[in-house]
Amino acid sequence: MLFPDYRPRRMRRNEAFRRMIRETRLSTDDLILPLFVVGGKGVRNPIPSMPGQYQLSVDNLVKTAREAGERDIPAILIFGLPDKKDPLGTGAYAKDGIIQKALRELKNRLPGMMVITDVCLCEYTDHGHCGLLGEGDGILNDASLPRLAETAVSHARAGADVVAPSAMMDGQVAAIRSALDEAGFQGTPVMSYSAKYASAWYGPFRDAADGAPSSGDRTSHQMDPGNAREASLEHQADVAEGADILMVKPGLAYLDVLARTRDEFPAHPLAVYNVSGEYAMVKAGAGQGWIDERSVVLETLLAFRRAGADIILTYHALDAAAWLASGPTSS
Ligand SMILES: [Zn+2]
Repeated sequence: MLFPDYRPRRMRRNEAFRRMIRETRLSTDDLILPLFVVGGKGVRNPIPSMPGQYQLSVDNLVKTAREAGERDIPAILIFGLPDKKDPLGTGAYAKDGIIQKALRELKNRLPGMMVITDVCLCEYTDHGHCGLLGEGDGILNDASLPRLAETAVSHARAGADVVAPSAMMDGQVAAIRSALDEAGFQGTPVMSYSAKYASAWYGPFRDAADGAPSSGDRTSHQMDPGNAREASLEHQADVAEGADILMVKPGLAYLDVLARTRDEFPAHPLAVYNVSGEYAMVKAGAGQGWIDERSVVLETLLAFRRAGADIILTYHALDAAAWLASGPTSS
């Protein structure tokens, strides 16, 4: 009787073998927890489409950030919800803006926690667009760059460790890099949302950050979901402009783009954003008892690592860190 020479099952027969030959591992070191900050005190507003996630006032933000630190999560990413919005998004770069206040408090209370800030105007403009609006509905690319740069500098001044431009304006990384350098923040890295797609998976985030555009959508600046080759151009441009970390967003529906980015940019740190809709889907399925949340989350996060991500921005970070600390599952 003929048998195959290669029997892959030999190396799978128990966990010791599987551990020995496992190619990819997930660690708490890989995780960044995104958080939403609002004005007021003692505020902890649940976000209905993202069970377990909240809009937090600065005092509660500090508490959650401390919890993240206790679970060994190295960094948080913060999004601000200002009390007031205007056409120019001035709250994004105001000295006493919500993010600036949060940064000062976080750096004061938790100096060891790395704080990354989202740099965009859409949460601060009354029209909800990522840049300034011109005649008609068009977003003015070049006129928005100084506002984005000013936002990044004001974050650095308030203590941001890393700034993360997400507006998808052409030239934004260069504008931010040169403004940071001029202001004396040569040491502040830029994590660029370099390949950010116009995606339906951001739906629940719009609840969380109150950032839906009042008219139109984001298809004139975010990438078309059909395009993978174009992501190479976006990354290339941001590398040339001085990006320190590249990103693919969303994650699950774009694993091919992530893997391709890893191949094409082997040396750059690469992040992936496990977005709100991906989180909501898992929470909904687990809430119904249809999937096992822990196994699904850990498998998904591992898949991002396997596809090439060094860094995973995920709302599951607090849970995942606790699960990773409690040891391997038996499944
Ligand atoms: Zn935006």
